[in-house]
Amino acid sequence: MTANAIRDAAHDDLAPIRESVRALCADFPGEYWRRLDRERAYPEEFVAALTKAGFLAALIPEEFGGSGLTMTAAAAIMEEIQACGCNGAACHAQMYTMGTLLRHGSIEQKKRYLPGIARGELRLQAFGVTEPTSGTDTLSLRTTAVRDGDTYIVNGQKIWTSRAEHSDLMLLLARTAPREQNASRTAGLTVFLVDMRKAKGHGLTIRPIRTMMNHATTEVFFENLRVPAEAVIGGEGEGFRYILSGMNAERILIAAECIGDAKWFIAKATAYAGERVVFGRPIGQNQGVQFPIARAYIGMRAAELMVREAAALYEAGRDCGAEANMAKHLAAEASWAAADMCVQTHGGFGFAEEFDIERKFRETRLYTVAPISTNLVLSYIAEHVLGLPRSY
Ligand SMILES: Cc1cc2nc3c(=O)[nH]c(=O)nc-3n(C[C@H](O)[C@H](O)[C@H](O)COP(=O)(O)OP(=O)(O)OC[C@H]3O[C@@H](n4cnc5c(N)ncnc54)[C@H](O)[C@@H]3O)c2cc1C
Repeated sequence: MTANAIRDAAHDDLAPIRESVRALCADFPGEYWRRLDRERAYPEEFVAALTKAGFLAALIPEEFGGSGLTMTAAAAIMEEIQACGCNGAACHAQMYTMGTLLRHGSIEQKKRYLPGIARGELRLQAFGVTEPTSGTDTLSLRTTAVRDGDTYIVNGQKIWTSRAEHSDLMLLLARTAPREQNASRTAGLTVFLVDMRKAKGHGLTIRPIRTMMNHATTEVFFENLRVPAEAVIGGEGEGFRYILSGMNAERILIAAECIGDAKWFIAKATAYAGERVVFGRPIGQNQGVQFPIARAYIGMRAAELMVREAAALYEAGRDCGAEANMAKHLAAEASWAAADMCVQTHGGFGFAEEFDIERKFRETRLYTVAPISTNLVLSYIAEHVLGLPRSY
């Protein structure tokens, strides 16, 4: 089976989009990503090319200069990027933060920011939710935003704020009312669209964190940062709800990236198993080598179905919390299983930098931890789908 046949096994009507993404990615081969990986550098040229081609504006409505595509199409774009051996983590936030702005932003905010984002003059790539002390327990976050006239004063710290150094705007979740003062458990958090260009050096400090893969992630410090009141998205105190609904988009898009990764690993392993001759025959003739590849393929195809179901529910405006979580879980497991299988199939060469497998292996490892870890997905399903008692 060729790489393209593996990629296109689940037919959809998005072939033209998929082909354009493949054509663009062909200009960014393994050696490009290897160099960036060694230098822990940001893929400026790749992000510029995606932006110029309009892919990063896929979810921006046409009236604001985007292409107004569906979540299914956006997911196909992210999947293809990964399936080509590239890495969309450098810019995927622009797609998954979009729902929060589109669904809850005011018309003024949309007019002010979306056309610039669509043209590539502004980047909305930073998403500041996780904090060092609260971790997954978002409701315990400690970053505060206190109203002072026409501004809010922000103090606190975020961690793992990826791409902050390469973004103009940040979607920030901060506490605007003390936890004990709120009528409900989830009230009191507010979403801000922070203009980081004005904030850097005036209360906003960004420090990079070096990680096992090239991910441009950072920690961000707020010290009496003044943010204008018009930066609030939607209603004050309502932010947790907005972020949760946005997280479904994030899960679906990242699940699609995992499917792309799994396809890349499976294609790579299949090709190698057919070529590599040991004991006078291709290693892929041995069932001990072919079965793990077949198993990885089955896992990927099953996960792909759930990703499509979640995307279809999302774009129909229906509740997709369970499906988005399950899609992310199945796809992250499938990509990790395919990564492990691919290393094993390649034997020693799986560890050689020039094969790109060890790089993709490190990159895809992230997705059973972020943007939500496996245990938290399982807790969600146990509690919200199966009706079991809340465990935390
Ligand atoms: C490279 C990278 C990029 C990231 N980018 C961003 C970003 O751009 N923006 C952002 O806001 N965040 C980002 N994150 C943060 C990411 O979403 C979190 O790391 C992830 O949600 C897990 O949270 P945590 O690291 O605080 O783990 P913790 O919450 O400390 O959990 C640690 C472990 O304990 C488990 N655990 C915790 N509580 C329970 C429980 N009650 N039951 C069972 N198990 C439990 C978890 O599953 C996990 O395995 C990024 C993280 C990484 C590593």
